[in-house]
Amino acid sequence: MRLELDNFTKSFDDVKVIENLNLTVEEGEMLALLGPSGCGKSTTLFAICGIHRVNGGRILFGGKDFSDLPSQKRNVGVVFQNYALYPHMTVFENIAFPLEVQKRSKAEIDKAVREIAELIHIEELLERRPAQLSGGQQQRVALARAIVRRPNVLLLDEPLANLDAKLRLEMRTEIRRIQLETGITAILVTHDQVEAMSMCDRVAIMNKGKILQIATPTEMYRAPANQFVAGFLGNPP
Ligand code: ADP
Ligand code: MG
Repeated sequence: MRLELDNFTKSFDDVKVIENLNLTVEEGEMLALLGPSGCGKSTTLFAICGIHRVNGGRILFGGKDFSDLPSQKRNVGVVFQNYALYPHMTVFENIAFPLEVQKRSKAEIDKAVREIAELIHIEELLERRPAQLSGGQQQRVALARAIVRRPNVLLLDEPLANLDAKLRLEMRTEIRRIQLETGITAILVTHDQVEAMSMCDRVAIMNKGKILQIATPTEMYRAPANQFVAGFLGNPP
């Protein structure tokens, strides 16, 4: 679903971290939010999924204002850097959990979990517990859990940061494949420019709570909007 931030503003204890941020992610698009540590990327995601309330502005899904809805009613899928799987549950139970909360029937849950497991290539892991999985496998399970409800929007906060270099490359391709196959509108937060440029349709460069430029990777390399963007990107890989 199309996602819009309209003059989104967020403060902590009277300190404005984000001021009048405007951003649109088109339906089915994957957008990278790229910027240095502390610039406000996670704060923006927390506001979209409803963990943080906004101090000003609106958040719209498909043109409708969701700013005042609690997170359970927004149907946003989230994957964090540290996976946050439930350690006492099996992989099946982890993925099923968002559907259990919605009180779906057992047959429906079983079907949905198996479909997602097939899409994400984790069918053979369903009976294991998180401690019995590699980092890459845990991240696949976290992704499966995030999209099993077919969310309005998928938010990925540095999802590859804890993986070793080889797995990171593999998961870049996998996350993009799954996003394209499902057509879910997505935001990928990262401070890694190669990741942003290689995985996303468009990239938004953020610094100190502001978006400095939004463009396709090619456009951005060809015509960076200012010195910060040029410096942050460096040379094309
Ligand atoms: P990023 O994800 O880009 O690294 P964050 O969104 O986590 O950055 O943080 C942006 C700014 O907001 C930072 O200066 C951070 O210290 C501040 N901040 C984030 N969360 C809180 C909070 N709960 N209370 C106070 N300040 C916060
Ligand atoms: Mg962050």
